[in-house]
Amino acid sequence: MDKKKKIIGIKAIFICLLLGWAFPTFAQTVDAIRFGDKQYEYGVGNDSIKFFLKVLDANGKRCNDVYATDLRNHFGLVEDGDTIKNDKWTVKTLTEGQRIPSDFTISVLVDLNIPQSGKSDIYEAVQTLVESAHDSCVFLSFFGDRVSNSRMVTKENYKDFYHQFQETAESKFFYSALYSKLTEFNFGNTEFDGLVKVQDNYKKDDEIFLRAQKARDRNLLFIFTEGNKIPEFEELNFIKVTDYQGRTDIVAPKVYALFYDAGNGIDEDMERTLKGVTYPRDVFSHNPIPNRQGEYMSSNNIKTVLQQFEQAVRNEMYDFALTYQVAEGKNYSGKVDFTALWDGEAKGTETFSIGTPERPWPIRPETAISSVKKFLIALMVAFFTILLFIAIMKIFIPWIKSKAFSMKYYKKYKPMENVRMMICPMCRFEIQPGDKVVTRCRHIMHVRCWKANEYKCVEYGQNCKDGIQDHIQWRFLFSKETLRDCLLTIMGICASLVSWIIYEISGRGFFDGLATGFVNLFFKTDGQSMGIINDCITLVSSFLSIGLLLGFFLSFVFRLFDGVKRRSFGWFLEITGLSLLSSVIGMAAFALGGVILCLWVSPTDTFIPWYCSFPAYLLFSVCISLSLIIKSTIPFKSALLGGLASAIIGFIVLYFSSITSKRWPWMNMLLDFVIYGGGLGASLTTVRMLAEKYFLVVKNGIRSGLRIPIHKWMNAGNKVTIGMTQQCEIQMAWEKSNKVAKEHVQLYVNQNRSQAMLRPLAPTTFNTRAELDASNKPVPLFNGDTFKVGDTIFQYVEN
Ligand SMILES: [Zn+2]
Ligand SMILES: [Zn+2]
Repeated sequence: MDKKKKIIGIKAIFICLLLGWAFPTFAQTVDAIRFGDKQYEYGVGNDSIKFFLKVLDANGKRCNDVYATDLRNHFGLVEDGDTIKNDKWTVKTLTEGQRIPSDFTISVLVDLNIPQSGKSDIYEAVQTLVESAHDSCVFLSFFGDRVSNSRMVTKENYKDFYHQFQETAESKFFYSALYSKLTEFNFGNTEFDGLVKVQDNYKKDDEIFLRAQKARDRNLLFIFTEGNKIPEFEELNFIKVTDYQGRTDIVAPKVYALFYDAGNGIDEDMERTLKGVTYPRDVFSHNPIPNRQGEYMSSNNIKTVLQQFEQAVRNEMYDFALTYQVAEGKNYSGKVDFTALWDGEAKGTETFSIGTPERPWPIRPETAISSVKKFLIALMVAFFTILLFIAIMKIFIPWIKSKAFSMKYYKKYKPMENVRMMICPMCRFEIQPGDKVVTRCRHIMHVRCWKANEYKCVEYGQNCKDGIQDHIQWRFLFSKETLRDCLLTIMGICASLVSWIIYEISGRGFFDGLATGFVNLFFKTDGQSMGIINDCITLVSSFLSIGLLLGFFLSFVFRLFDGVKRRSFGWFLEITGLSLLSSVIGMAAFALGGVILCLWVSPTDTFIPWYCSFPAYLLFSVCISLSLIIKSTIPFKSALLGGLASAIIGFIVLYFSSITSKRWPWMNMLLDFVIYGGGLGASLTTVRMLAEKYFLVVKNGIRSGLRIPIHKWMNAGNKVTIGMTQQCEIQMAWEKSNKVAKEHVQLYVNQNRSQAMLRPLAPTTFNTRAELDASNKPVPLFNGDTFKVGDTIFQYVEN
């Protein structure tokens, strides 16, 4: 080696030493950082998020020599792409208490063939596990002659299990025990359930699979067994057990096998099986399944076995609690991605739900001025939503229809053979080849004449049924007609605004207790419930409130402005009662949609994806539509179509617009409310106009122009009665004369001839000429026919 190289070598060693002194290296290098549970609380003044963390080495074991101070120097946290500055968070070492996150589910299986002194030691070792876990996390079971039920262990009841550790066994159903405890983490029956040798009244513990379903990567099975006694021959075997654990479509625990070998050697099949389930491989690809790699440990000394057990438990524990305060003005309303850095390198990621779009977090105190400002803005939003809906209904839709009409029926005139000359019925001039004409009906007209005649055929209404084009009626845009056509939309938006104001003032969810109770029906929790279950409770509480408010107020206004009934006290009570019924239906729909679908469909265990809330909104919308048709003129189809469409648009606005995360966290919910209410109202009017066939139009008096849809009754084979009493479908509350009978006329459809009929029950003028009364037979009704009841003239219109 020449001199130069030697000097470089010395320099290199020197630099390395220097670096080593300046940056002490860890005996174990940090390879991964895991996030445990997250914690945050609702309420004014709560604005910090807490995570539990653990730092792992390359073998996936916890780094024993990393301390809180090291985190200060090396750790970094990125939230949704933004680095949280080091001085924003604090970190604490966890030394005692519940260091195993509450969403872990731990099943401990003990072989009763282990010598007595060993079992007593296991009893004590498991006690430390029970003490560092949440109550309801740990389940204990035994095997020997038979496999016992898994029972939940708490700090309180653990001593009751002592005598079970004292029991002995004659035989050893090893495969039954293994198989039944593995399958307990998954829902339903499995292929070989019939082969297991279990105690009488054996039952899989539902709690285990319900918990496991919620937190798929947080399930552990500890098996204590020994090698002294050879297992019984069973139909279940190595292949059946390991194949099950190698299935990726199931929820399976990570297995730790603790084998006490008293010196008689190890049964080969048993060892192979234990290794198979502790290091499972995908049955198809044969690759190791990450997150299911446990450990197989054996020793001829029970103390060593227990040390290994403690080490395994410690590996699952979280060592640090990291807390940080939310930046001013930052709002959370759902999924947030976190990345843990070590020396600037990403070492672990996790996604958590923080807040919900329905109930953004944190809740900040509001001054009176900012509250007033908020409600003023909300008023403006509602007002502009009304304008938007009017624009859609009165400008956009007619424009689209008009365009479609023009494209289809405006044509250049081409003279047909054997037609010598065509005269425009409007201007009486001859139509020249190449003139632009309207070809909708047989009365070919110039386009300019058509437009001059208000977009219709000159014969329309007399000899022509089809010659009319929808168009924007600018003249009538700000008229009473517009107001009448958009009444339900405007009322829907007003009802939504009122609902939203109550929702906002009451804290965006006032059913926390009921929601907890409801969620607990499906998922037992122990007070310090799991993160995702807390999110679910919050969500369900908001859902219940939304269901109650929107259900009640929307139903109330739609009923208030539906139909033609005298506004008596009894009628008012009736619609209030029906609206209360709607609100109960709305709550039930949201509760079911929220809990069952939200949690059972949710494929993740740390956050609730957006699409899990979607079924709740759809279910709500369908149920509200169903409740609206009870005792009203509202047909199901129009309520359903409009309800679904507006629920979907509202949902998209709620979940996908980013307004929430900015200045006004309440804005998305407000938009969702008014869009749903307005959309439902708009559809009740528009879809009804489009889809319905039979109407009565009032031709004179104060109700002149009123279109009463009678489609629903006529279609159902029912009848429409017009008269003065409450029992009539059309109660002529506006009629001041005393010429109207209690039941004056009846309309119905003759099913054999599918012909609309009018049956007079009291003197009625028909088509201004015929005087009918109760002695007359029913007369057929045709489009355009009129009849006079009292002083009111009705026209029968078929679309
Ligand atoms: Zn003309
Ligand atoms: Zn015509």
